[in-house]
Amino acid sequence: MARAGKPSLDDLKTRLRDADLRATAPRLAVLRFLYEAPTPVSHAELADKLAPEGWDRATVYRNLNDLTDAGIARKTDLGDHVWRFELLKDTDGSHTDAHPHFVCDECGEVSCLPEGTVEIKSTRNGPLRLKERVSEIQLKGRCERCN
Ligand SMILES: [Zn+2]
Ligand SMILES: [Zn+2]
Repeated sequence: MARAGKPSLDDLKTRLRDADLRATAPRLAVLRFLYEAPTPVSHAELADKLAPEGWDRATVYRNLNDLTDAGIARKTDLGDHVWRFELLKDTDGSHTDAHPHFVCDECGEVSCLPEGTVEIKSTRNGPLRLKERVSEIQLKGRCERCN
């Protein structure tokens, strides 16, 4: 999903302070990476990317969980039992928590779809308040590259 430019260090610090988190160096590194990632990323991917900056896997994991607990990020299991993390509610509103994901059957690539791509409707015989019960909407098929 397209982002409106890279966040400044001040943007990142503000985001953490707004969530009552201290702006520690590894936390800022993890948050910056989530801002720049176009799709949800796994802990392993993130740890690989941040290793050159000197952050070990445990530190990355702890900070991912801090961001998730604080509501800045969320984690999603897209059916392969791998937690992937992504940023919630970008300041420009481009990335909200209600959007569905598309997973390619062929290459496994995950992409974020705009909110509203899939609409949940309560039907007469369906479960009550379905919309509030759904935590994840996932579509499967073939991505453009694999078609
Ligand atoms: Zn594919
Ligand atoms: Zn997403």
